[in-house]
Amino acid sequence: MSDQWNKRTTLVHGGTRRSQYNEVSEAIFLTQGFVYDTAEDAEARFIEAGPDEFIYARYGNPTVAMFEERIAALEGAEDAFATASGMAAVNAALTSMLKAGDHVVAAQALFGSCLYILEEILPRFGVEVTLVDGTDLAQWKAALRPDTKAVFFESTSNPTLEVIDIKSVTDLAHAVGATVIIDNVFATPVFSRAIELGADVVVYSATKHIDGQGRALGGVVLGTREFIRKTVEPYMKHTGGAMSPFSAWIMLKGLETIDLRVRAQAASALALTDAVQGHEKLEQVIFPGHSSHPQFDLVKAQTGKGGTVMSLDVKGGQEAAFRFLNALQIAVISNNLGDAKSIATHPATTTHQRLPDDQKVALGITPGLVRFSVGLEDPDDLIADVMQALAQV
Ligand SMILES: *Cc1c(COP(=O)(O)O)cnc(C)c1O
Repeated sequence: MSDQWNKRTTLVHGGTRRSQYNEVSEAIFLTQGFVYDTAEDAEARFIEAGPDEFIYARYGNPTVAMFEERIAALEGAEDAFATASGMAAVNAALTSMLKAGDHVVAAQALFGSCLYILEEILPRFGVEVTLVDGTDLAQWKAALRPDTKAVFFESTSNPTLEVIDIKSVTDLAHAVGATVIIDNVFATPVFSRAIELGADVVVYSATKHIDGQGRALGGVVLGTREFIRKTVEPYMKHTGGAMSPFSAWIMLKGLETIDLRVRAQAASALALTDAVQGHEKLEQVIFPGHSSHPQFDLVKAQTGKGGTVMSLDVKGGQEAAFRFLNALQIAVISNNLGDAKSIATHPATTTHQRLPDDQKVALGITPGLVRFSVGLEDPDDLIADVMQALAQV
């Protein structure tokens, strides 16, 4: 792999490890273990494994290593550790570095399972967690303390697509010595500049845009070599959240096309936002990449593009939203995102169903809100589909 390559070249060739057969497409090493030539070799490898020496698939595997190298190159991170799912990555990033008595500050608008780790699991082990409105810098400033060890947030929140100012929050966090961990799924690895803006650790659910075709679960933690190898790796090695070689192969091949896919999906999301803007059946249309978004200037500076997910607030509440969802003929009703297939979700009754009503209101999850993950279909067909579904509301 060359440092001179541009991203699209790196996404096709980065991290490739060829076997003695010199295969063109990357091999899937479906093996749990590796044979040592001698007992002395086994001993030496357990003392210190070289970069192309593997011991056990829970620790690492050649196909998994190819994925880790390629995604690290895309993100501009020194190193990466692949995990069984996005949640395994979030859990590893936080739990591997925290201990009883530590303090964490996190944004309140989070994916449900991230909130569970912060509100239920970490406090059980003596970690104190303060939740803030992530878009309000004054709240971050007030919550950060000298004993704050980590700051955690989703750079674009789900499903209301509020954007957090990475540089400003990171500067505040670093002033108290806290490690900044960003769940960057909605920004996507294609548009991410998180590390350049100061983030210490970036986490992705690879299930989303990295696979991009809804086939497998996966996740990845990215950061400095020191953090990944000295903090995350020992934790992952011994707790078992490793990515399977087969899933790593899917994710690795997903990276070959991610730039083309995500750029096309982001362009379609913008076209769809333009088409439905001001529609009489809609209360509101939210897309971070559109000039109507209240944080459009921040989005332009931070990621350039608005990602692949938009939200539509249908007038008439849940009944109207359901009518819209049921009338869609191309977009499917499901809860993944970043997929080649457009996916519509009703957060209030599915992904965010568990939240009490007052919390839904506080997060902007109205009964009429529909999250729309824009896929790879022809944008004209998608616009026509959404328009005919709105007409039936
Ligand atoms: C999907 C998602 C996760 C969890 O990822 P899984 O692969 O489903 O475990 C975490 N954070 C965000 C923002 C997500 O969208």
